[in-house]
Amino acid sequence: MKKLLTVAVAGALMASVVGCSSANNQASPAPAASAGTGGAASAAPAADTGKKPTIGVAIYKFDDTFMSGVRAAIADAAKDKANVDIVDSQNSQPTQNDKVDLFITKKVNALAINAVDRTAAGVIIDKAKAANIPVVFLNREPLEADMKKWDKVYYVGAKAEQSGTMEGQLLVDYFKAHPEADKNKDGKIQYVMLKGEPGHQDAELRTKFSIQAITDAGLGVEKVAEDTAMWDRVKGQEKMAAFLASSESKIEAVLANNDDMALGAIEALKAKGYFKDGKYMPVVGVDATAPALQALSDGTLLGTVLNDAKNQGAATTAVATALAQGKTPGKDTTGYDVTDGKYVWISYKKITKDNMNEAK
Ligand code: BGC
Repeated sequence: MKKLLTVAVAGALMASVVGCSSANNQASPAPAASAGTGGAASAAPAADTGKKPTIGVAIYKFDDTFMSGVRAAIADAAKDKANVDIVDSQNSQPTQNDKVDLFITKKVNALAINAVDRTAAGVIIDKAKAANIPVVFLNREPLEADMKKWDKVYYVGAKAEQSGTMEGQLLVDYFKAHPEADKNKDGKIQYVMLKGEPGHQDAELRTKFSIQAITDAGLGVEKVAEDTAMWDRVKGQEKMAAFLASSESKIEAVLANNDDMALGAIEALKAKGYFKDGKYMPVVGVDATAPALQALSDGTLLGTVLNDAKNQGAATTAVATALAQGKTPGKDTTGYDVTDGKYVWISYKKITKDNMNEAK
C-alpha cells in the first residue's frame, strides 16, 4: 500500500513537473544547454516569441499583512504582462532555496525574491547567475556586496531611514501640539519601542531614525523599554502588555516598526483602559495597512507612514518583466526610475487621520 502510494505520488509529481516544463517551454524555448552553463540564451526567449514571460516569485511568508498587499499588487500588475508563479517560503530560508531551485529547473524567465534572510541573497544570486535568470529582490534589501555580484540583480523597496524619520516626526508634531503629553513634565518623551525582526533593514533603521528625528527637532527623549515583536500583532500585544505591567506610569509614547505591532500595542492599551474617558497614549506605526487606517479613523492610532505596497508590487512586476524580455529596466521600460543601475525606490508618506484618504 505504502509503495503504491509512493509510486502514485512520484507519478503525479513527474506529471506536474513535465506539465509545467512543457508549458513553460512554449513560453521559453531556451536551449537546454543554456541552463546552468552561464550561457546567455535563457533570459530573453520570452521576447523572441512575443509570449508572456514567466516570473517565479518567492515571498518570505504569506502570513504577513504588508507582504500580502505587495503580493496582491504583483499579481494585479502582471495580469496582461506576465505569468507569475507566487510561492510561500514559510519564513524558512532553506525552504525558499528549494523553491528557487525549482523555479530554475522550470526555467522561469525571471525571479522576484523577498528573501527570508537578506544575507542569503548572495547564494540565490549565484544560482540565478549560473542559470542566467535575472533576479529582482524586494522588501528585504540584500547587502551591497551581493547586489554587485551580477548586473542582472535589482532591488525594489523603500528607504527605511525615510520611514523612521517620518514616524519620529509624527510624534514630534503631537508633543509640540500637546505639551500635556509630557506627563512628568521633564521635557523628554519617555517611549517604548516595538521592533521588527532583528537584522531587517526596516527594523534597524526605523528604530534609529525615528528617535533621531525627535532629537533633531530639539525634543528630549528617553527609552523606557525596547523589544522585538517580529512584525507580529499578537507578539506586539504581548510585549506591550509586559511593558505596561513593569513601567506603565513612565510611558508617554509607543513607537512600533510596523502597524501590526502598533495595533497589538493598542489592544494591550485598551485592556488597561486607554482610548476612553480621556485616557490616551500616542502610538505610531508604519505601513498604512487597512486595519491601521481603521484605527486612525477610530482615534486609537495617532499616525502611520504609507509603505506603498501597490507601487512596490507593480515595480517588482515591471522590472522582472523587462528583464525577462531581455530589456534593461529603466523609466522607459518599467515606468519607474532606476537609481545606480539597480535600485527602484518607492517613497514613503506620513499619514494621519487628516490625509488618510491618500493611503487608501
Ligand atoms: C513592513 C512590515 C513587514 C516587513 C516584511 C516591512 O517593510 O513594514 O510590516 O512585516 O516589511 O519584511
